[in-house]
Amino acid sequence: MTTIETYPTLDEAARAMGQDAVYLGGGTLVMRAVNEGKAPQRLVRVTDPGLTEVRLSGDTIRIGAAVTMSDVLANRDLDFLHPIARLIGGPQVRNMATVAGNLFAAHPYGDFAAALLALDASVIGAGQGGARSVGDLLRDRGHAGLIAAVEIRRPRDPRAFGFLKVSRVKPKGVSVLSIAAHLPREGGRIRGARIAFGAMGPGPLRSTGAERALEGQSLSAALIDSAASAASEGLDPPTDEIASAWYRKEVAGVHLKRLLTEMERR
Ligand SMILES: Cc1cc2nc3c(=O)[nH]c(=O)nc-3n(C[C@H](O)[C@H](O)[C@H](O)COP(=O)(O)OP(=O)(O)OC[C@H]3O[C@@H](n4cnc5c(N)ncnc54)[C@H](O)[C@@H]3O)c2cc1C
Repeated sequence: MTTIETYPTLDEAARAMGQDAVYLGGGTLVMRAVNEGKAPQRLVRVTDPGLTEVRLSGDTIRIGAAVTMSDVLANRDLDFLHPIARLIGGPQVRNMATVAGNLFAAHPYGDFAAALLALDASVIGAGQGGARSVGDLLRDRGHAGLIAAVEIRRPRDPRAFGFLKVSRVKPKGVSVLSIAAHLPREGGRIRGARIAFGAMGPGPLRSTGAERALEGQSLSAALIDSAASAASEGLDPPTDEIASAWYRKEVAGVHLKRLLTEMERR
């Protein structure tokens, strides 16, 4: 039998965690597993309203771990993230699915996490856990601990950030792949290119080939072709019921080209 433990703060919940416990966010994945008979001994949840807050301080936005996709869509400060939140599941899923939960969602999920990776977001851990990059967390999700919030810098130029999700069933199918691109520019040249793919690996991953092609250059049709050719370099996507690994690798560059072409025309 599963027991549910409720704590007023994340720190208390963190102290209560153990091998037999699973943290419960919005529960879209945890409760699905429970309903499928994969119930842990203990479910740990937190009622701290601070986890649902979005706070703006200058260009930096702190998004509480328990902020849902629907909360994101209702917040004007997060307008650059609306195109991603809007494409996660259907309305019922968006009402429950949290920002922190998306960081732990296994392939082919993690569209929001891919966007956070492209935006070089930081993750704030419970207690004195401090901050670390989303990239670090995604490399070692098994030892991540509890997450209190995500911090992100608002892109200075909204045209520099773009997102594309490819799915077979519209509007709420899961990803064949998703792509988030952040291409800040200085004097017309791209400085700090970050391209992240969802569903092209066990979790969201950066396309180092595409980033290398784009860095220091001015966005043009020829440059977009080079980035597209290098898109799936070093990536080893899984085969699943949505798409084969071969198909994902074949189309990754085609869709990156579409996204970058749309961003060039803004
Ligand atoms: C029908 C359906 C459609 C979906 N469609 C999409 C989609 O299109 N795109 C997409 O990306 N995802 C999709 N998902 C997956 C999922 O809904 C999202 O990834 C969601 O954001 C997970 O958040 P949650 O709060 O519900 O996580 P939960 O189910 O509560 O938890 C998931 C995991 O995250 C951990 N976790 C949660 N919060 C924290 C925290 N604060 N600190 C540490 N660990 C934590 C949990 O312990 C658990 O391991 C879909 C799911 C369903 C059921």
